[in-house]
Amino acid sequence: MINIFQPTLGKEELKAVEEVFESNWIGKGPKTEEFEKQLSERIGCSPDNVTTTTCCTEGIFQILDYLEIGEGDEVIIPSISFIGIGNAILSRGAKVVFCDVDTRTLNVTSYDINEKITPRTKAVILIHYGGLPCEMDSIVRLCEQNNIKLIEDNACSPFSEFNKQNTGTIGDFGVWSFDAMKILVAGDCGLIYCKNKDDMKAIKERCYLGLTSGSGMSNPIDKKWWEFDVSYPGRRSIVNDITSAIGLEQLKKVDGFINKRYEYHEMYNQGLIDLEWLQTPPSSFNKSSYYMYWIQFEDEETRNGLAKHLKENEIYTTFRYYPLHWVEHYKEIGGEWELPNTELVAKTTLCLPLHQGLTNDEVNKVIEKIRNFK
Ligand SMILES: *Cc1c(COP(=O)(O)O)cnc(C)c1O
Repeated sequence: MINIFQPTLGKEELKAVEEVFESNWIGKGPKTEEFEKQLSERIGCSPDNVTTTTCCTEGIFQILDYLEIGEGDEVIIPSISFIGIGNAILSRGAKVVFCDVDTRTLNVTSYDINEKITPRTKAVILIHYGGLPCEMDSIVRLCEQNNIKLIEDNACSPFSEFNKQNTGTIGDFGVWSFDAMKILVAGDCGLIYCKNKDDMKAIKERCYLGLTSGSGMSNPIDKKWWEFDVSYPGRRSIVNDITSAIGLEQLKKVDGFINKRYEYHEMYNQGLIDLEWLQTPPSSFNKSSYYMYWIQFEDEETRNGLAKHLKENEIYTTFRYYPLHWVEHYKEIGGEWELPNTELVAKTTLCLPLHQGLTNDEVNKVIEKIRNFK
């Protein structure tokens, strides 16, 4: 089976893990600090603007807790969003407000968000679909004008750029994912970005039990080192040095991964562009991390038929992200959602295999099997 997503891990990662074993310190330590430092350099901010955490979903939970989003508050998200985002909003007792997306980019626009703003709107959480950046200028302006916090779910756009600025660092908060299905993988890991360093300091403490000082050996010896205080009853949402050691190796390779994905993206474009019964993804002046390659059709039968045809030929495809307003649990919560673009694209879009582990032959096979479908 040709997988849709796949990590690329090698002996470099294994060797880095071996070194951590030998150091006798596998918990959060120097590797994690170095990983945060290098990530911050890579995305153009200070280490004081970021922290690693267990996963991207936890990052969103932490941010919404910190913002004290709660009952009576509304948070706007595209219905085409990752389930963990909706769950984080519901867990706070706040209302999820779904907005529509553009039919070609599957991204939210300032128009879509504006339609849903009320005096109760506290935050917007957007995603850069498949790595393609949203039109951020107008969205940032709209959120500022309405005093709404802007949170970027940057899980699938780790090194994308809008107007030369890294996505995830454009809004007030951003979250990244390095889980097993992403471009840079570390097993499980996430990154939180806060524009405001005081916010970051507070969230960083909350990610480690709310502890306000170091502990044990990291305390100065003129103090009784077993004493401590907390600023908040925080959870324990930190990553260990095994994870960070893998992440550091992946960081060295990630530009190569993205270049390879770009090559395959272009191969698909060239191989499919003349087919009148489908549309290839829109192009952009902005830098994408090429997380997904999606094609679109006139109707649902063609999409479903092609997906089945490809699966019979050992090629796995999918649609991301199944609209949350169609998920049973979210339906029960209620709300009348008029999301015509979302419903159209959810029926007529298909994501093809795209990862750096593919071979030219495999990409050509996918193209050929699509071409001979009709
Ligand atoms: C994978 C993903 C997440 C969740 O990331 P985790 O690290 O697995 O919690 C969130 N949003 C999007 C768009 C994703 O693709």
